[in-house]
Amino acid sequence: MNSLFASLPTTVFETMSRLAREHDAVNLGQGFPDDPGPLDVRQKAAEAIVDGWNQYPPMMGTPELRHAVAAHYRAWQGLDLDPESEVMVTSGATEAIAGALLALIEPGDEVVLFQPLYDAYLPLVQRAGGVPRLVRLVPPHWRITEEALAQVFSPRTRLVLFNNPHNPTGRVFGRDELDTLARFCTRSGAVLVSDEVWEHVIFDGLSHHSVLSLPGLRGRAVKIGSAGKIFGMTGWKVGFVCAAPELMRALSRAHQFLTFTTPPALQQAVAYGLGKERDWFLSTRAGLQRSRDRLARGLAGLGFSVLPSAGTYFLNVDLAPLDPALRDEAFCRRLVERERVAAIPVSAFYAEQPVESVIRFCFAKTDATLDRALNRLSAVG
Ligand code: GLN
Repeated sequence: MNSLFASLPTTVFETMSRLAREHDAVNLGQGFPDDPGPLDVRQKAAEAIVDGWNQYPPMMGTPELRHAVAAHYRAWQGLDLDPESEVMVTSGATEAIAGALLALIEPGDEVVLFQPLYDAYLPLVQRAGGVPRLVRLVPPHWRITEEALAQVFSPRTRLVLFNNPHNPTGRVFGRDELDTLARFCTRSGAVLVSDEVWEHVIFDGLSHHSVLSLPGLRGRAVKIGSAGKIFGMTGWKVGFVCAAPELMRALSRAHQFLTFTTPPALQQAVAYGLGKERDWFLSTRAGLQRSRDRLARGLAGLGFSVLPSAGTYFLNVDLAPLDPALRDEAFCRRLVERERVAAIPVSAFYAEQPVESVIRFCFAKTDATLDRALNRLSAVG
């Protein structure tokens, strides 16, 4: 077999998690919390299974969840969404992204992407026939500039695949950067597909601005969210897509032939969870912010140069000030084998001209886990 997918390597997350198991390492690589998730939400799912929510739900999602998504985004982001025509439930955000690409581009269409990029994006764009045009973001600021956008946008730009807050950099893009991007999309007539799965995982009092709220984009943007990230239960694979009715019609055609539906018991539990009181979301954020600060302080104390993280489960360390000769991949290999701590080399998120001096740590862990990792890392700093 020499298809595009047959030639792809196993994902860096899977590879690092396997190495972490082999070496009995503290796994700060793949992004998942080591907390079991909110008990009441898990109980709702268990009850829903027992109560019989086990057959195919409606293709677009249960009415309860679609209404809960619209109400949640109204309360938190001021969005005005019609649950009947503008909200769809998918089996995770990854399905939503794959579906959006299959539904919205034709072979030869140009697709703008930002690297470092989440590993699924590029193969999915290429498999859908899209021609990638990459914007390269660099540390320490990872800023999107007008000059960089001007180089990749063209009259053939059909779609932009965006991610905010951004994995792996931990950046929350500023209003000015979002407005610039919106202007380019409007000018070129491109659809802006935005992976906003980290929308609730933002710190320091920041608020999330969805692409659906940007000037001129309400009818040409697709917002993608994830219950797995909102509730810290990454295996649930319940995603939501929000878009104007005309785009949604196309997106729903992809969804009906990809997964068709999503487990109904989980949908009902997520519908309940999205209605939880404001304080639950804020204190979850505050807890993650404390974990971020604990790991950042610990790493800085060991002599690592820690880059700022305004959102996501991740913070990055720049190895260059430690030793300009260090390469992220070799360093991560040594960390997992010798110090028994797993991290992710950020070069894995570049398709070309990789930045090779930055490594990513997941801080969504208990204090004990973070302290164990820091203790082991003290041999390196
Ligand atoms: N989103 C997770 C991360 O960035 C990885 C998910 C996966 O393993 N595919 O670590």
